[in-house]
Amino acid sequence: MKMRKEQVFERAKKGQLWAGNLIANYPENSDKLENRTPIDNSLIGYIADGCAADINAAVKVARATFKDGSWSGLSPQERKLVMLKWAQLIDTHSEELAALDCIDAGKPITECLNTDLPATIETFYWYAEAIDKLFGKVAPTSQQELGLIVHEPIGVVGAVLPWNFPAQMFAWKVAPALAVGNSVIVKPAELTSLSAYRLVELAYEAGIPKGALSLVCGLGEKVGEALGRHDDVDVVSFTGSTDVGRLFLKYSAESNLKEIVLECGGKSPQLVFDDADIDAAVPHIMAAAFWNMSENCSCGSRLIVHESIQQPLLEKLTHAVKAWKVGNPTDPEVSIGPMVEKAHFDKVKSFLDITQKEGGRLVTGGKIHSELGSGWYIEPTIFEGITPKMSLFQQEVFGPILAVTTFKTDDEAVELANDTHYGLAASFYSQNIHRVMNIARRINAGTVSVNGFSEGNIATPFGGFRQSGFGGKDNGLEAFEQYTQIKVIWFVHH
Ligand code: NAD
Repeated sequence: MKMRKEQVFERAKKGQLWAGNLIANYPENSDKLENRTPIDNSLIGYIADGCAADINAAVKVARATFKDGSWSGLSPQERKLVMLKWAQLIDTHSEELAALDCIDAGKPITECLNTDLPATIETFYWYAEAIDKLFGKVAPTSQQELGLIVHEPIGVVGAVLPWNFPAQMFAWKVAPALAVGNSVIVKPAELTSLSAYRLVELAYEAGIPKGALSLVCGLGEKVGEALGRHDDVDVVSFTGSTDVGRLFLKYSAESNLKEIVLECGGKSPQLVFDDADIDAAVPHIMAAAFWNMSENCSCGSRLIVHESIQQPLLEKLTHAVKAWKVGNPTDPEVSIGPMVEKAHFDKVKSFLDITQKEGGRLVTGGKIHSELGSGWYIEPTIFEGITPKMSLFQQEVFGPILAVTTFKTDDEAVELANDTHYGLAASFYSQNIHRVMNIARRINAGTVSVNGFSEGNIATPFGGFRQSGFGGKDNGLEAFEQYTQIKVIWFVHH
Protein backbone atom coordinates (compact mmCIF):
# COMPACT_ATOMS: atom_id res chain seq x y z
CA MET A 1 0.00 0.00 0.00
CA LYS A 2 1.28 3.46 -0.93
CA MET A 3 1.84 5.74 2.07
CA ARG A 4 1.90 9.54 2.05
CA LYS A 5 4.49 11.37 4.10
CA GLU A 6 1.81 12.64 6.50
CA GLN A 7 0.82 9.04 7.27
CA VAL A 8 4.45 8.17 8.02
CA PHE A 9 4.78 11.17 10.34
CA GLU A 10 1.51 10.17 12.04
CA ARG A 11 2.74 6.62 12.63
CA ALA A 12 6.00 8.05 13.98
CA LYS A 13 4.03 10.13 16.51
CA LYS A 14 2.28 6.98 17.69
CA GLY A 15 5.63 5.13 18.01
CA GLN A 16 4.56 2.59 15.38
CA LEU A 17 7.53 2.54 12.99
CA TRP A 18 9.35 -0.77 12.89
CA ALA A 19 12.44 -2.23 11.26
CA GLY A 20 13.02 -5.91 11.96
CA ASN A 21 15.34 -8.56 10.66
CA LEU A 22 14.38 -10.16 7.37
CA ILE A 23 16.01 -13.59 7.10
CA ALA A 24 14.38 -16.40 5.12
CA ASN A 25 13.08 -19.33 7.18
CA TYR A 26 14.33 -17.86 10.43
CA PRO A 27 12.24 -16.59 13.35
CA GLU A 28 12.08 -12.89 14.09
CA ASN A 29 14.48 -11.74 16.80
CA SER A 30 12.30 -10.65 19.70
CA ASP A 31 14.92 -8.33 21.23
CA LYS A 32 14.45 -4.75 20.18
CA LEU A 33 16.02 -1.33 20.51
CA GLU A 34 14.18 1.96 20.90
CA ASN A 35 14.17 4.19 17.85
CA ARG A 36 14.00 7.93 18.59
CA THR A 37 13.89 10.72 16.03
CA PRO A 38 16.56 13.43 16.30
CA ILE A 39 13.83 15.98 15.50
CA ASP A 40 12.55 16.06 19.09
CA ASN A 41 14.02 12.88 20.61
CA SER A 42 10.57 11.28 20.81
CA LEU A 43 10.07 7.53 20.46
CA ILE A 44 9.00 6.67 16.90
CA GLY A 45 9.18 2.88 17.19
CA TYR A 46 11.68 0.07 17.48
CA ILE A 47 14.30 -1.83 15.50
CA ALA A 48 15.44 -5.43 15.97
CA ASP A 49 18.41 -5.80 18.31
CA GLY A 50 20.21 -8.27 16.07
CA CYS A 51 23.00 -10.57 17.21
CA ALA A 52 25.65 -12.96 15.94
CA ALA A 53 23.11 -15.82 15.73
CA ASP A 54 21.03 -13.72 13.31
CA ILE A 55 24.09 -13.11 11.16
CA ASN A 56 24.89 -16.84 11.20
CA ALA A 57 21.36 -17.63 10.01
CA ALA A 58 21.49 -14.96 7.30
CA VAL A 59 24.87 -16.17 6.01
CA LYS A 60 23.66 -19.78 5.98
CA VAL A 61 20.63 -19.01 3.85
CA ALA A 62 22.62 -16.60 1.65
CA ARG A 63 25.18 -19.33 0.89
CA ALA A 64 22.50 -21.95 0.28
CA THR A 65 20.68 -19.61 -2.12
CA PHE A 66 23.90 -18.75 -3.91
CA LYS A 67 24.54 -22.46 -4.40
CA ASP A 68 21.02 -23.42 -5.47
CA GLY A 69 21.13 -20.87 -8.29
CA SER A 70 17.62 -19.48 -7.73
CA TRP A 71 19.13 -15.99 -8.11
CA SER A 72 22.80 -16.48 -9.05
CA GLY A 73 21.82 -18.97 -11.75
CA LEU A 74 19.36 -16.69 -13.56
CA SER A 75 20.49 -15.13 -16.82
CA PRO A 76 21.44 -11.43 -16.63
CA GLN A 77 18.29 -10.64 -18.64
CA GLU A 78 16.12 -12.47 -16.10
CA ARG A 79 17.73 -10.71 -13.13
CA LYS A 80 17.39 -7.41 -14.93
CA LEU A 81 13.62 -7.79 -15.25
CA VAL A 82 13.24 -8.44 -11.51
CA MET A 83 15.57 -5.54 -10.63
CA LEU A 84 13.56 -3.23 -12.91
CA LYS A 85 10.36 -4.28 -11.19
CA TRP A 86 11.99 -3.50 -7.83
CA ALA A 87 13.07 -0.07 -9.12
CA GLN A 88 9.48 0.62 -10.19
CA LEU A 89 8.15 -0.37 -6.78
CA ILE A 90 10.67 1.92 -5.08
CA ASP A 91 9.55 4.71 -7.38
CA THR A 92 5.92 4.07 -6.43
CA HIS A 93 6.82 4.16 -2.71
CA SER A 94 9.32 6.99 -2.89
CA GLU A 95 7.30 9.44 -0.78
CA GLU A 96 7.05 6.94 2.07
CA LEU A 97 10.77 6.11 1.85
CA ALA A 98 11.68 9.81 1.80
CA ALA A 99 9.55 10.43 4.89
CA LEU A 100 11.16 7.48 6.70
CA ASP A 101 14.67 8.86 6.08
CA CYS A 102 13.51 12.33 7.14
CA ILE A 103 12.08 11.16 10.46
CA ASP A 104 14.86 8.64 11.15
CA ALA A 105 17.91 10.80 10.36
CA GLY A 106 16.47 14.31 10.72
CA LYS A 107 17.16 15.03 7.05
CA PRO A 108 15.15 17.83 5.42
CA ILE A 109 12.07 16.32 3.74
CA THR A 110 12.56 18.45 0.64
CA GLU A 111 16.04 16.96 0.17
CA CYS A 112 14.79 13.43 0.78
CA LEU A 113 12.02 13.86 -1.78
CA ASN A 114 13.99 15.77 -4.42
CA THR A 115 17.51 14.40 -4.09
CA ASP A 116 17.94 11.19 -2.06
CA LEU A 117 15.02 9.19 -3.41
CA PRO A 118 15.44 10.16 -7.08
CA ALA A 119 19.13 9.20 -6.77
CA THR A 120 18.17 5.91 -5.09
CA ILE A 121 15.68 5.03 -7.83
CA GLU A 122 18.13 6.02 -10.57
CA THR A 123 20.76 3.73 -9.03
CA PHE A 124 18.45 0.71 -9.16
CA TYR A 125 17.45 1.40 -12.76
CA TRP A 126 21.05 2.03 -13.79
CA TYR A 127 22.42 -1.24 -12.42
CA ALA A 128 19.42 -3.22 -13.65
CA GLU A 129 20.03 -1.84 -17.15
CA ALA A 130 23.79 -2.39 -16.96
CA ILE A 131 23.77 -6.02 -15.98
CA ASP A 132 23.09 -7.55 -19.40
CA LYS A 133 25.73 -5.37 -21.08
CA LEU A 134 28.81 -6.63 -19.26
CA PHE A 135 31.29 -8.63 -21.26
CA GLY A 136 34.30 -10.73 -20.32
CA LYS A 137 37.47 -10.92 -22.39
CA VAL A 138 39.26 -13.38 -24.63
CA ALA A 139 43.02 -13.56 -24.11
CA PRO A 140 45.48 -13.43 -27.01
CA THR A 141 46.58 -17.08 -27.49
CA SER A 142 47.95 -19.54 -30.03
CA GLN A 143 45.47 -21.33 -32.32
CA GLN A 144 45.60 -24.39 -30.06
CA GLU A 145 44.35 -22.52 -27.03
CA LEU A 146 41.46 -20.37 -25.93
CA GLY A 147 41.70 -18.20 -22.81
CA LEU A 148 38.48 -16.75 -21.40
CA ILE A 149 38.59 -14.07 -18.72
CA VAL A 150 35.24 -14.11 -16.96
CA HIS A 151 33.76 -12.13 -14.09
CA GLU A 152 31.81 -14.28 -11.65
CA PRO A 153 29.69 -13.14 -8.71
CA ILE A 154 31.79 -13.39 -5.57
CA GLY A 155 29.16 -15.20 -3.45
CA VAL A 156 27.98 -13.81 -0.11
CA VAL A 157 28.22 -10.04 0.26
CA GLY A 158 27.86 -8.04 3.48
CA ALA A 159 26.81 -4.39 3.04
CA VAL A 160 27.39 -2.23 6.12
CA LEU A 161 25.72 1.16 5.83
CA PRO A 162 26.01 4.64 7.43
CA TRP A 163 23.16 6.85 8.63
CA ASN A 164 23.65 9.98 6.56
CA PHE A 165 22.00 8.89 3.27
CA PRO A 166 20.16 5.73 4.36
CA ALA A 167 18.20 4.82 1.22
CA GLN A 168 20.83 6.05 -1.19
CA MET A 169 23.73 4.19 0.44
CA PHE A 170 21.60 1.04 0.44
CA ALA A 171 21.15 1.48 -3.31
CA TRP A 172 24.83 2.18 -4.01
CA LYS A 173 25.85 -1.15 -2.47
CA VAL A 174 22.91 -3.50 -2.90
CA ALA A 175 21.92 -2.69 -6.50
CA PRO A 176 25.26 -3.68 -8.14
CA ALA A 177 25.92 -6.54 -5.69
CA LEU A 178 22.55 -8.22 -6.31
CA ALA A 179 22.42 -7.42 -10.02
CA VAL A 180 25.50 -9.57 -10.69
CA GLY A 181 23.96 -12.54 -8.87
CA ASN A 182 25.36 -12.44 -5.34
CA SER A 183 23.44 -13.12 -2.14
CA VAL A 184 23.51 -9.96 -0.02
CA ILE A 185 23.17 -9.33 3.72
CA VAL A 186 22.46 -5.72 4.63
CA LYS A 187 23.38 -4.23 7.99
CA PRO A 188 21.90 -0.72 8.13
CA ALA A 189 23.13 1.88 10.64
CA GLU A 190 21.28 1.39 13.92
CA LEU A 191 20.14 5.03 13.78
CA THR A 192 18.49 4.64 10.37
CA SER A 193 17.10 1.20 9.58
CA LEU A 194 13.56 2.14 8.53
CA SER A 195 14.02 2.72 4.80
CA ALA A 196 16.27 -0.36 4.50
CA TYR A 197 13.48 -2.50 5.97
CA ARG A 198 10.97 -1.21 3.43
CA LEU A 199 13.44 -1.54 0.54
CA VAL A 200 13.98 -5.22 1.36
CA GLU A 201 10.22 -5.81 1.67
CA LEU A 202 9.78 -4.25 -1.77
CA ALA A 203 12.57 -6.47 -3.14
CA TYR A 204 10.61 -9.55 -2.08
CA GLU A 205 7.48 -8.10 -3.64
CA ALA A 206 9.39 -7.64 -6.90
CA GLY A 207 10.44 -11.29 -6.89
CA ILE A 208 13.96 -11.31 -5.49
CA PRO A 209 14.27 -14.64 -3.63
CA LYS A 210 14.27 -14.11 0.13
CA GLY A 211 17.49 -16.07 0.54
CA ALA A 212 19.30 -13.73 -1.84
CA LEU A 213 18.66 -10.63 0.27
CA SER A 214 18.56 -10.46 4.07
CA LEU A 215 18.42 -7.58 6.50
CA VAL A 216 19.95 -7.74 9.97
CA CYS A 217 19.36 -4.66 12.10
CA GLY A 218 21.14 -3.74 15.31
CA LEU A 219 24.32 -2.41 16.81
CA GLY A 220 27.61 -2.16 14.97
CA GLU A 221 29.60 -3.86 17.72
CA LYS A 222 27.26 -6.86 17.61
CA VAL A 223 25.86 -7.27 14.11
CA GLY A 224 28.56 -5.39 12.15
CA GLU A 225 31.37 -7.22 13.88
CA ALA A 226 29.70 -10.64 13.48
CA LEU A 227 29.38 -9.98 9.74
CA GLY A 228 32.96 -8.72 9.50
CA ARG A 229 34.32 -11.80 11.29
CA HIS A 230 32.13 -14.44 9.61
CA ASP A 231 34.17 -17.12 7.86
CA ASP A 232 31.62 -17.68 5.09
CA VAL A 233 31.21 -14.07 3.93
CA ASP A 234 33.21 -13.29 0.78
CA VAL A 235 33.22 -9.50 0.80
CA VAL A 236 32.15 -6.73 3.13
CA SER A 237 31.46 -3.39 1.50
CA PHE A 238 31.41 -0.73 4.19
CA THR A 239 30.58 2.97 4.24
CA GLY A 240 31.18 4.85 7.44
CA SER A 241 33.89 6.38 9.56
CA THR A 242 37.57 5.71 8.97
CA ASP A 243 37.96 4.33 12.51
CA VAL A 244 35.30 1.65 12.03
CA GLY A 245 36.58 1.00 8.50
CA ARG A 246 39.95 0.05 10.00
CA LEU A 247 38.18 -2.47 12.25
CA PHE A 248 36.81 -4.28 9.20
CA LEU A 249 40.35 -4.80 7.91
CA LYS A 250 41.20 -6.30 11.29
CA TYR A 251 38.09 -8.53 11.29
CA SER A 252 39.07 -9.82 7.86
CA ALA A 253 42.68 -10.43 8.84
CA GLU A 254 41.57 -12.34 11.92
CA SER A 255 38.98 -14.45 10.03
CA ASN A 256 38.85 -15.67 6.43
CA LEU A 257 40.65 -12.82 4.58
CA LYS A 258 37.38 -11.75 3.03
CA GLU A 259 37.63 -8.82 0.64
CA ILE A 260 37.03 -5.47 2.29
CA VAL A 261 35.92 -2.30 0.53
CA LEU A 262 35.83 0.91 2.55
CA GLU A 263 34.22 4.26 1.77
CA CYS A 264 35.22 6.41 4.70
CA GLY A 265 35.47 9.96 5.93
CA GLY A 266 36.84 13.13 4.42
CA LYS A 267 37.98 16.70 5.02
CA SER A 268 37.47 17.96 1.54
CA PRO A 269 38.91 21.28 0.38
CA GLN A 270 37.24 23.97 -1.69
CA LEU A 271 39.80 26.22 -3.36
CA VAL A 272 38.78 29.66 -4.58
CA PHE A 273 41.32 31.39 -6.81
CA ASP A 274 41.53 35.13 -7.41
CA ASP A 275 40.10 34.78 -10.93
CA ALA A 276 37.00 32.85 -9.80
CA ASP A 277 33.49 34.01 -10.65
CA ILE A 278 32.55 34.52 -7.01
CA ASP A 279 28.83 35.05 -7.52
CA ALA A 280 28.55 31.81 -9.48
CA ALA A 281 30.67 29.98 -6.91
CA VAL A 282 28.73 31.00 -3.78
CA PRO A 283 25.76 28.59 -4.12
CA HIS A 284 28.17 25.72 -4.80
CA ILE A 285 30.38 26.60 -1.85
CA MET A 286 27.30 26.75 0.36
CA ALA A 287 26.01 23.38 -0.84
CA ALA A 288 29.41 21.74 -0.43
CA ALA A 289 29.79 23.15 3.06
CA PHE A 290 26.29 22.82 4.54
CA TRP A 291 24.12 20.45 2.48
CA ASN A 292 22.62 17.65 4.63
CA MET A 293 23.72 19.52 7.81
CA SER A 294 27.28 18.78 6.56
CA GLU A 295 26.65 15.15 7.54
CA ASN A 296 28.14 14.32 4.19
CA CYS A 297 31.35 12.41 3.55
CA SER A 298 32.34 14.68 0.67
CA CYS A 299 31.41 17.86 2.55
CA GLY A 300 33.68 20.74 1.42
CA SER A 301 34.52 21.61 4.99
CA ARG A 302 37.74 23.52 4.29
CA LEU A 303 37.44 26.75 2.28
CA ILE A 304 40.89 27.69 1.00
CA VAL A 305 40.64 31.13 -0.53
CA HIS A 306 43.07 33.57 -2.15
CA GLU A 307 43.82 36.27 0.41
CA SER A 308 42.81 39.07 -1.99
CA ILE A 309 39.19 37.85 -2.21
CA GLN A 310 38.62 36.49 1.29
CA GLN A 311 36.67 39.50 2.56
CA PRO A 312 34.22 39.89 -0.36
CA LEU A 313 33.67 36.13 -0.43
CA LEU A 314 33.00 35.90 3.31
CA GLU A 315 30.53 38.78 3.07
CA LYS A 316 28.59 36.96 0.36
CA LEU A 317 28.66 33.67 2.27
CA THR A 318 27.49 35.37 5.46
CA HIS A 319 24.57 36.77 3.51
CA ALA A 320 23.82 33.45 1.78
CA VAL A 321 23.86 31.48 5.03
CA LYS A 322 20.90 33.48 6.34
CA ALA A 323 18.71 31.97 3.63
CA TRP A 324 19.28 28.45 4.99
CA LYS A 325 16.44 27.95 7.41
CA VAL A 326 17.22 25.87 10.50
CA GLY A 327 14.30 23.93 11.95
CA ASN A 328 12.06 20.88 11.95
CA PRO A 329 13.07 18.90 8.83
CA THR A 330 9.48 17.83 8.12
CA ASP A 331 8.87 21.49 7.16
CA PRO A 332 9.47 21.76 3.38
CA GLU A 333 11.09 25.20 3.84
CA VAL A 334 13.80 23.90 6.16
CA SER A 335 17.36 23.34 4.88
CA ILE A 336 19.11 22.46 8.15
CA GLY A 337 17.65 19.87 10.50
CA PRO A 338 19.09 18.51 13.74
CA MET A 339 22.30 16.56 14.18
CA VAL A 340 21.51 12.86 13.94
CA GLU A 341 21.90 12.05 17.66
CA LYS A 342 22.93 13.62 20.98
CA ALA A 343 26.45 12.11 21.03
CA HIS A 344 27.10 13.43 17.54
CA PHE A 345 25.63 16.84 18.44
CA ASP A 346 27.97 17.02 21.46
CA LYS A 347 30.96 16.20 19.27
CA VAL A 348 30.08 18.83 16.66
CA LYS A 349 29.35 21.42 19.35
CA SER A 350 32.74 20.79 20.96
CA PHE A 351 34.41 22.05 17.77
CA LEU A 352 32.83 25.48 18.36
CA ASP A 353 34.77 25.81 21.65
CA ILE A 354 37.94 24.05 20.50
CA THR A 355 38.21 26.25 17.40
CA GLN A 356 37.84 29.50 19.39
CA LYS A 357 40.44 28.26 21.92
CA GLU A 358 42.86 27.35 19.12
CA GLY A 359 42.58 30.87 17.66
CA GLY A 360 39.89 30.58 14.96
CA ARG A 361 37.77 33.73 14.49
CA LEU A 362 33.99 33.36 14.26
CA VAL A 363 32.60 34.98 11.07
CA THR A 364 28.97 33.93 11.36
CA GLY A 365 26.76 31.38 13.13
CA GLY A 366 27.84 29.43 16.19
CA LYS A 367 24.38 29.42 17.71
CA ILE A 368 22.76 26.32 19.17
CA HIS A 369 18.99 26.35 18.67
CA SER A 370 18.16 24.86 22.04
CA GLU A 371 14.57 26.07 21.66
CA LEU A 372 13.96 23.67 18.77
CA GLY A 373 12.72 20.13 19.45
CA SER A 374 15.58 17.96 20.67
CA GLY A 375 17.84 21.02 20.85
CA TRP A 376 20.43 19.35 18.60
CA TYR A 377 20.16 22.08 15.97
CA ILE A 378 23.34 23.97 15.08
CA GLU A 379 23.36 27.12 13.00
CA PRO A 380 25.63 26.99 9.93
CA THR A 381 28.91 28.43 11.17
CA ILE A 382 32.01 29.88 9.51
CA PHE A 383 35.42 30.35 11.15
CA GLU A 384 38.32 32.23 9.53
CA GLY A 385 42.01 32.20 10.41
CA ILE A 386 42.20 28.39 10.43
CA THR A 387 45.70 26.98 10.07
CA PRO A 388 46.73 23.41 9.20
CA LYS A 389 47.65 22.65 12.80
CA MET A 390 44.15 23.41 14.10
CA SER A 391 41.65 20.64 14.80
CA LEU A 392 39.05 22.20 12.49
CA PHE A 393 41.48 21.94 9.57
CA GLN A 394 42.34 18.27 10.14
CA GLN A 395 39.38 16.51 11.72
CA GLU A 396 36.12 15.46 10.09
CA VAL A 397 33.41 17.33 12.04
CA PHE A 398 30.38 16.01 10.12
CA GLY A 399 28.44 19.08 11.19
CA PRO A 400 27.86 22.60 9.82
CA ILE A 401 31.17 24.29 10.66
CA LEU A 402 33.25 25.66 7.78
CA ALA A 403 36.99 26.33 8.20
CA VAL A 404 38.44 29.23 6.18
CA THR A 405 42.15 29.45 5.37
CA THR A 406 43.89 31.88 3.01
CA PHE A 407 46.69 31.35 0.49
CA LYS A 408 48.97 33.55 -1.60
CA THR A 409 50.23 31.27 -4.40
CA ASP A 410 48.84 28.34 -6.37
CA ASP A 411 51.50 26.03 -4.94
CA GLU A 412 50.50 27.01 -1.43
CA ALA A 413 46.83 26.36 -2.27
CA VAL A 414 47.60 22.84 -3.49
CA GLU A 415 49.78 22.13 -0.47
CA LEU A 416 47.01 23.21 1.88
CA ALA A 417 44.42 21.19 -0.04
CA ASN A 418 46.52 18.03 0.29
CA ASP A 419 47.53 18.58 3.90
CA THR A 420 45.23 15.99 5.58
CA HIS A 421 45.11 12.19 5.81
CA TYR A 422 41.97 12.18 3.70
CA GLY A 423 41.41 12.34 -0.05
CA LEU A 424 37.74 11.91 -0.87
CA ALA A 425 36.68 14.98 -2.85
CA ALA A 426 37.72 18.52 -3.73
CA SER A 427 36.17 21.48 -5.54
CA PHE A 428 37.90 24.47 -6.98
CA TYR A 429 36.91 27.66 -8.68
CA SER A 430 38.89 29.42 -11.41
CA GLN A 431 38.24 30.70 -14.91
CA ASN A 432 41.75 30.07 -16.17
CA ILE A 433 41.82 26.81 -18.15
CA HIS A 434 45.59 26.36 -17.73
CA ARG A 435 45.33 26.74 -13.99
CA VAL A 436 42.34 24.38 -13.95
CA MET A 437 44.17 21.60 -15.81
CA ASN A 438 47.23 21.98 -13.65
CA ILE A 439 45.49 22.08 -10.27
CA ALA A 440 43.04 19.23 -11.02
CA ARG A 441 45.95 16.87 -11.57
CA ARG A 442 47.73 17.87 -8.37
CA ILE A 443 44.90 17.43 -5.86
CA ASN A 444 44.79 14.16 -3.95
CA ALA A 445 41.11 13.30 -4.15
CA GLY A 446 38.91 10.65 -5.75
CA THR A 447 36.60 13.31 -7.22
CA VAL A 448 37.79 16.77 -8.20
CA SER A 449 35.03 19.17 -9.28
CA VAL A 450 35.78 22.34 -11.20
CA ASN A 451 33.58 25.41 -10.79
CA GLY A 452 30.93 23.51 -8.87
CA PHE A 453 30.32 21.09 -6.04
CA SER A 454 29.58 17.62 -7.35
CA GLU A 455 30.18 13.98 -6.58
CA GLY A 456 29.70 13.08 -10.24
CA ASN A 457 26.72 10.93 -11.11
CA ILE A 458 25.77 7.26 -10.98
CA ALA A 459 27.97 6.56 -14.03
CA THR A 460 31.15 7.87 -12.39
CA PRO A 461 33.06 5.84 -9.77
CA PHE A 462 33.03 7.33 -6.29
CA GLY A 463 35.58 6.71 -3.58
CA GLY A 464 38.51 8.21 -1.81
CA PHE A 465 42.29 8.26 -1.85
CA ARG A 466 44.43 7.76 1.24
CA GLN A 467 42.40 7.24 4.46
CA SER A 468 39.11 8.08 2.75
CA GLY A 469 38.83 4.73 1.05
CA PHE A 470 40.17 1.27 0.45
CA GLY A 471 39.79 -1.60 -1.95
CA GLY A 472 37.23 -0.40 -4.51
CA LYS A 473 34.74 2.18 -5.67
CA ASP A 474 31.01 2.65 -5.46
CA ASN A 475 29.02 3.73 -8.52
CA GLY A 476 29.82 3.39 -12.19
CA LEU A 477 30.62 0.07 -13.81
CA GLU A 478 33.62 0.03 -11.45
CA ALA A 479 31.29 -0.92 -8.55
CA PHE A 480 30.87 -4.37 -10.14
CA GLU A 481 34.55 -5.03 -9.42
CA GLN A 482 33.77 -5.11 -5.70
CA TYR A 483 31.21 -7.84 -6.14
CA THR A 484 32.79 -10.08 -8.78
CA GLN A 485 35.93 -12.14 -9.03
CA ILE A 486 37.93 -12.78 -12.16
CA LYS A 487 38.35 -16.33 -13.35
CA VAL A 488 40.44 -17.55 -16.27
CA ILE A 489 39.10 -20.56 -18.16
CA TRP A 490 41.79 -22.03 -20.38
CA PHE A 491 41.00 -24.44 -23.21
CA VAL A 492 43.62 -26.53 -24.94
CA HIS A 493 42.82 -28.52 -28.04
CA HIS A 494 45.09 -30.89 -29.90
P1 NAD B 1 30.11 4.58 11.59
O1 NAD B 1 31.48 4.17 11.17
O2 NAD B 1 29.88 4.92 12.99
O3 NAD B 1 29.05 3.43 11.26
C1 NAD B 1 28.95 2.85 9.98
C2 NAD B 1 28.39 1.45 10.11
O4 NAD B 1 29.33 0.65 10.83
C3 NAD B 1 27.07 1.37 10.89
O5 NAD B 1 26.23 0.43 10.26
C4 NAD B 1 27.51 0.90 12.26
O6 NAD B 1 26.52 0.17 12.94
C5 NAD B 1 28.68 0.00 11.92
N1 NAD B 1 29.62 -0.14 13.03
C6 NAD B 1 29.86 0.77 14.02
N2 NAD B 1 30.76 0.28 14.88
C7 NAD B 1 31.10 -0.96 14.44
C8 NAD B 1 31.99 -1.96 14.90
N3 NAD B 1 32.71 -1.83 16.03
N4 NAD B 1 32.10 -3.10 14.17
C9 NAD B 1 31.37 -3.28 13.06
N5 NAD B 1 30.50 -2.38 12.59
C10 NAD B 1 30.37 -1.22 13.26
O7 NAD B 1 29.75 5.73 10.56
P2 NAD B 1 28.45 6.64 10.59
O8 NAD B 1 28.62 7.52 11.78
O9 NAD B 1 27.23 5.82 10.44
O10 NAD B 1 28.61 7.47 9.24
C11 NAD B 1 29.35 8.60 9.16
C12 NAD B 1 30.70 8.33 8.52
O11 NAD B 1 30.51 7.71 7.25
C13 NAD B 1 31.49 9.58 8.25
O12 NAD B 1 32.82 9.41 8.62
C14 NAD B 1 31.37 9.75 6.74
O13 NAD B 1 32.40 10.49 6.17
C15 NAD B 1 31.32 8.35 6.27
N6 NAD B 1 30.70 8.24 4.95
C16 NAD B 1 31.49 7.97 3.87
C17 NAD B 1 30.93 7.89 2.60
C18 NAD B 1 31.79 7.57 1.42
O14 NAD B 1 31.24 7.14 0.41
N7 NAD B 1 33.08 7.75 1.49
C19 NAD B 1 29.56 8.07 2.43
C20 NAD B 1 28.76 8.34 3.55
C21 NAD B 1 29.36 8.43 4.81
